[in-house]
Amino acid sequence: MARLGSWIESHPEGIYVRPADAWIDPSQPKPRAWVTHGHGDHARGGHGAVLATPETLAIMEVRYGPQSGQPIAYDESLRVGDVDVRFVPAGHVLGSSQIVMEHKGERIVVSGDYKRRADPTCLPFVPVPCDIFITEATFGLPVFRHPDAGSEIDRLLQRLHADPSRCVLVGAYALGKAQRIICELREQGHEAPIYFHGAMERLNLLYESFGIRLGELRHTGNATKQEMAGHIVICPPGALNDRWSRRLPDPVTAMASGWMRIRQRARQRNVELPLVISDHADWDELTMTIRELAPTEVWITHGREEALKHWCMTHQIKACELNLVGYEDEDD
Ligand SMILES: [Zn+2]
Ligand SMILES: [Zn+2]
Repeated sequence: MARLGSWIESHPEGIYVRPADAWIDPSQPKPRAWVTHGHGDHARGGHGAVLATPETLAIMEVRYGPQSGQPIAYDESLRVGDVDVRFVPAGHVLGSSQIVMEHKGERIVVSGDYKRRADPTCLPFVPVPCDIFITEATFGLPVFRHPDAGSEIDRLLQRLHADPSRCVLVGAYALGKAQRIICELREQGHEAPIYFHGAMERLNLLYESFGIRLGELRHTGNATKQEMAGHIVICPPGALNDRWSRRLPDPVTAMASGWMRIRQRARQRNVELPLVISDHADWDELTMTIRELAPTEVWITHGREEALKHWCMTHQIKACELNLVGYEDEDD
């Protein structure tokens, strides 16, 4: 069943903006798609026309080939059909946006994925007060409180320096998390070369082409075991336990994800050094954001909605969950 707002509808395959005849982050090919960011559960190939930031369009081209895309800069305002639309930073990954829409005096904001913490690879989240706020809730439980990323990076560096004969292998999503970890390491003065799995090469180059400085990076395929000892190696989470990692010098297995708060998740991946570094808002960031935007209504996506819905009700805000299909943890 579609959830109906005054002019915006939620369907399993996405959010439909009726007066603009446009879909937000649709999971099926649509004639007109507005895409918040490049992660696979939000950006898909095959749309007739895509409106997104230049960074998101570039990411989509790396993943899906040429797009019939229309770039929209942050804070540029467009009129589509009967809707004024603009994209503002969401602080999630390079190019990530909230979509702000106005129609007949009502303002609706779709958050996409977001966080409120500083991230050296993207612009910070811009709060836009609104009537209806459609928020993600990946970590929508009070148990999720992410520590400061700097303290997690310290633990990573301590472990690296503790045994120079080994490497530390960090599992991190290829889009966003990997580049953020690299930048956070650089900010803490770690200037040594960082080795990367080949699957990350194109996105690393893309980030650099948008001015994100990643320092000296080396492809693991061109390195010997000995060369990589005492260094950090970054790979996609799926490569942590596969044959590929046998070429590394006795790796300490680490993973950077909000889910590393849950011990069982770390054990499932044989992670020795869990790093709780997330690109999503934790419980405090979600509730702080809703307080700040003061919407009359909140719609919640991405799984763990119940607790946040309850929190909204106790704060006199109408809330409901949206059952969108295909939103996954690609990017936690
Ligand atoms: Zn995402
Ligand atoms: Zn998502």
